Amino acid sequence: MKIICIGRNYREHARELSNPVPEDPIFFFKPDTSILRRNRPFVYPDFSRDIHYETEIVVKVCRNGKNIGASQAGTYYESIGVGIDFTARDLQQKAKEKGLPWALAKGFDQAAALSPFLPKAILPRVNDLNFHLDLNGNTVQRGCTADMIFSIDELISYLSKFMTLRKGDLLFTGTPAGIGPVRKGDLLEAFIEDRRMLWCEVK
Ligand code: MG
Repeated sequence: MKIICIGRNYREHARELSNPVPEDPIFFFKPDTSILRRNRPFVYPDFSRDIHYETEIVVKVCRNGKNIGASQAGTYYESIGVGIDFTARDLQQKAKEKGLPWALAKGFDQAAALSPFLPKAILPRVNDLNFHLDLNGNTVQRGCTADMIFSIDELISYLSKFMTLRKGDLLFTGTPAGIGPVRKGDLLEAFIEDRRMLWCEVK
């Protein structure tokens, strides 16, 4: 199983990190050991002083595929969740400056907090889905999949030209604006529409 993540898929977020809006999707990976299930605390790692939350819609691939057309992409995922792409921003910044990969900044243990998945049949339109993150009870990030630069179907189609997608693969689809640091004692709660899907305490 692989965890595929998209960078800069919302214009406002690209702007807040002073990054250009990409012409093609930007991908990176997290290992399966980075998964943090809901309710489990996130333990602040000692190798970073600047861990950020990035709240993202996550889709789970439901069958194997390669060279998937955009019009067929919707048949390759049946369930949707929300996740937090925890990022060691200080390590990522160092890597960026040297043109090096983000593997450690994005792939450490617990860096992929994950909610349970909902069948997309019970959700409103997948391409117009609202989600948000509350930090200690205050909403700090709001996103809507309608604002993605590359839609979920476009991401699946593009990616599958390069690599085979397998049943069980997860796709983190990018974060909207409003990212920020976490501190020990924080409570993070992620919602799809008004449904609380994921929560975790920072320890
Ligand atoms: Mg992200």
